[in-house]
Amino acid sequence: MVEALKKQLLRWLPSPQLNDPNGASTYGRRLDGLSALACIAVPSFTGLFAWYAMWPLFLAMAGSGVLLVTASLIYRWSGSLVLGREIYLVSLFAFNVYEVAYFGTILAPGSAWLVAVPVLAIMVGGRASGLAWVLVTVAAIVALGLLGHLVMEPASFSAIDMQIINSIGMIYLVTCLAMFVYFVEYERSLAIVGLIDMNETVRKLVVSDPLTGVFNRRHLGDLIAADDARPIEARLIRAVVMIDIDHFKSINDRFGHLAGDSVIKCVVEAIATEAGPDNPVGRFGGEEFVCLVQRWPGARNGLGAQRLAEAIRCRVSGTVLDGVPALERVTVSIGFADCARFGSTQAALPEADFALYAAKEAGRNCVREARPEPRPVARAS
Ligand code: GH3
Ligand code: MG
Ligand code: MG
Repeated sequence: MVEALKKQLLRWLPSPQLNDPNGASTYGRRLDGLSALACIAVPSFTGLFAWYAMWPLFLAMAGSGVLLVTASLIYRWSGSLVLGREIYLVSLFAFNVYEVAYFGTILAPGSAWLVAVPVLAIMVGGRASGLAWVLVTVAAIVALGLLGHLVMEPASFSAIDMQIINSIGMIYLVTCLAMFVYFVEYERSLAIVGLIDMNETVRKLVVSDPLTGVFNRRHLGDLIAADDARPIEARLIRAVVMIDIDHFKSINDRFGHLAGDSVIKCVVEAIATEAGPDNPVGRFGGEEFVCLVQRWPGARNGLGAQRLAEAIRCRVSGTVLDGVPALERVTVSIGFADCARFGSTQAALPEADFALYAAKEAGRNCVREARPEPRPVARAS
């Protein structure tokens, strides 16, 4: 019961997503808002006309009021926004033309409401509908204001009654227009918030690796380039740590690629736990990861990277892995390079890679530091 009620409410108070590229649904929601406002204005005006015993106006308001209130339902039932919208605008326009003619003067309250018609037409129908209604309204104002005296009989109401009727009409107009504009603005703000959220999601997708959620290689490159562009004393990255899973191919071969994926995720989790929030971690390639050491005890003298690398190595070798038998353990080999020693992070990166190969050659499951000395000519496989 509650669920059904909620469903109906959501149907009539739809979420403010811009789910239609040509904006039709946005216009539809605005028409809903206009019909809701008519639910307030129509009874008030019929009451006012009844109070003054203006029965022709009372009947005209009641008739066009039914159309104003139901325009949104007509749109929903027929599926035609144009039909619902134009029924609303024609009713509003026709009633107010009649009201001006009834009072016999363009100074009647209906003329201000006439002015609102093209504004509302733009807001619920866009440029074409707005332009058409500007032309129709201007023609009506010319006919009523400049030529009306030729055919219209001025109504015989006292000046004070006209003042009161006009003032009440204006109060309703101001209130209804302000509420409508508020509704449009509120809806627009929610749409903008939706876009901001979407933008954030896209930004995260662009910088992260889909399997592990850590940064991807492109973003690692951006972080490195941005840091190298700073003056030396302002740089944040102290060292590059490069990590590679040992004999990972054999995990895939024995347990399958999905198990391999789970192992990669477990290893990344271990690396990220040790690195903490201040030292960005990214996936450099298949089963190779990079940590950019920024803040770590001893990071400034190069010792920090060594300690972090050892901590990562120990944590990975002690980790129970998802997707493979409980006794299966993996290890990692790690190379690291001190950025100051090689002039920049960009220059330290290949050095860390060479150090990683040295760790592989040294038997794996160990850490090696890059030294600025002649490199081995051939790499270990
Ligand atoms: P070494 O100790 O020398 O690093 O040996 P290794 O087997 O770890 O290295 P090798 O380069 O021979 O094999 C790496 C394997 O990693 C090959 C590739 O199929 C696999 N791999 C790369 N990316 C992924 C991935 O996203 N998921 C899975 N399951 N496997 C991957
Ligand atoms: Mg490997
Ligand atoms: Mg590798």
